[in-house]
Amino acid sequence: MALFGRGEKPGTAGSAAQPSGANPTMGRRAFCRICNDYRNFSKCWLRAVPLNRCMCCGTVFDSPAKFYQRSLPVCPKCGEYLEHPGFEYGVCDGCNSKFELVGGAKPGLLPNRKQREEMNRHGKAWSPD
Ligand SMILES: [Zn+2]
Ligand SMILES: [Zn+2]
Repeated sequence: MALFGRGEKPGTAGSAAQPSGANPTMGRRAFCRICNDYRNFSKCWLRAVPLNRCMCCGTVFDSPAKFYQRSLPVCPKCGEYLEHPGFEYGVCDGCNSKFELVGGAKPGLLPNRKQREEMNRHGKAWSPD
């Protein structure tokens, strides 16, 4: 079976794998607004390069720079919040929510698809603050 892809492995088993361009960083303890308490974030990483594909729906972005002009880039297809290069992110061990980790401030939630749907259902506009 000859597979002449572009070096892409479809559907990496397990969801823990980070796409390339992210550097793992030290886990820490931070405030999770979903759990409403301090939780361990054992999986943290620093985004090194702009995403060229959505981590949620897999849409490939032709010109990621276009989204990254906005302060809060989102996937045009599914609305997933995209990680910014130079920013650190982490996942709450308690509820598996993704946060942007900001030194000296409460981590900012990056709601996943399910959480976004939930918020839409309740008519709550999500704000990064
Ligand atoms: Zn998407
Ligand atoms: Zn949590």
